[in-house]
Amino acid sequence: MITPVIEVTEETVLNCDDLLKQVHAIGKDVLAENAADVDRDARFPAEAMAALAQAKLLSAYVPAEYGGMGLNILQIAKICEALGQYCGSSAMIYAMHCIQVACVVHHAQDSAYFRQYLRRLVEEQRLMASATTEIGTGGDLTSSICAVEMEMDAFTLTKKAPVISYGEYADDILVTCRRSADAQASDQVQVLVRRGEYQAEPLSTWDTMGFRGTCSSGFTLTAIGAADQVLPTPFSEILSQTMHPYSHIVWGALWSGIAADAVNRARAFVRAEARKTPGETPICAIRLAEVDQVLQEMRHNVLCLTREYQDLLNAGCPDLFHGFGFSIRTNNLKVSCSQRIVQIVGGALLICGISGYRNDSKFSLSRHLRDSYGAALMVNNDRITKLNATMLMAHKEGF
Ligand SMILES: Cc1cc2nc3c(=O)[nH]c(=O)nc-3n(C[C@H](O)[C@H](O)[C@H](O)COP(=O)(O)OP(=O)(O)OC[C@H]3O[C@@H](n4cnc5c(N)ncnc54)[C@H](O)[C@@H]3O)c2cc1C
Repeated sequence: MITPVIEVTEETVLNCDDLLKQVHAIGKDVLAENAADVDRDARFPAEAMAALAQAKLLSAYVPAEYGGMGLNILQIAKICEALGQYCGSSAMIYAMHCIQVACVVHHAQDSAYFRQYLRRLVEEQRLMASATTEIGTGGDLTSSICAVEMEMDAFTLTKKAPVISYGEYADDILVTCRRSADAQASDQVQVLVRRGEYQAEPLSTWDTMGFRGTCSSGFTLTAIGAADQVLPTPFSEILSQTMHPYSHIVWGALWSGIAADAVNRARAFVRAEARKTPGETPICAIRLAEVDQVLQEMRHNVLCLTREYQDLLNAGCPDLFHGFGFSIRTNNLKVSCSQRIVQIVGGALLICGISGYRNDSKFSLSRHLRDSYGAALMVNNDRITKLNATMLMAHKEGF
């Protein structure tokens, strides 16, 4: 059973404006200041995450009754987009954390353990990571090799996870695994493992093209814990009702933020060019109009699906997620946003020319371009498109 979240009202949207100003201030003063350094050294953006925790933004999606801000997905998406304008890695970490929080908020409030956990998350601003990808199943979220093994009221699990973003820095990790040693690969649960109760043996490092600050190294996770750390809802439901739509919305939002910053840099470049030849519109201004149009489409797509998702949540009816239609549209959003970000940043690069190509210029788009290529790989677009092709063959709805 999905727990209904706060309904969107004019008031909640207006209240978010002040918060967004605060987010932009953190973005400008902290994220932007450290972005180049975080990217160059592939280091965890500790300053950014500390500033977000200090502003209590790590519990932004936790309902107010537990002490959180009780924001809705539209507002979280706006925060992710704002952060994306200053540092893609920090925004990605924040977005991934929010996805995990949403899994608990939507699917575990029936459990006394998780209600207490949400209070602790608010108080301690705990950072949550995710281990879904597994050696042997790759980006297929719907099957696991690893299994949770229960003995009395305690569990053990071991998972070979090739990519766990900020795994070394998280307080808790939500791990997907089979319900038991004899369960089918698709009979999965999500388990909360807490720092101090798991060991992480390094499997691989994270020296990548983009999203370098996410520090998404691989680990063999070995964890112990109590039975009530297993989320009470089957993972298949958590995936369709929360992890799948929530991920693609917040990712699309933060990618829009990265793209928006690229367009801003391009705009600043065009203005500087225009000042050199007063009265004449520089040729690159045409390209600026083009990328701005694609950015608007990208933002509208994110907003449209976010509204649809919020409506489904408001309805509080899990059955509404069963049709293929919403799932197909969610996948379309992901694939389209991951393509548009490359198109927009590439277009901005054409505008800024060599100034955008340089690493030591205020118009540099190197980090934006490298980050943008990661979008198609985060659950590979081919995997998603193949899934949509299969669903479309069975889907009977008109839209
Ligand atoms: C910046 C970043 C951060 C990440 N953070 C995390 C994290 O915190 N936790 C986590 O668990 N994961 C994380 N991931 C992993 C990510 O979400 C993907 O699941 C993972 O990158 C998939 O790895 P892969 O490309 O090797 O494997 P696959 O998705 O298996 O793809 C490999 C190749 O096989 C093809 N392929 C395989 N199966 C199919 C199929 N059924 N249909 C069509 N094509 C198929 C793909 O198209 C692709 O060409 C992160 C990835 C990135 C880029």
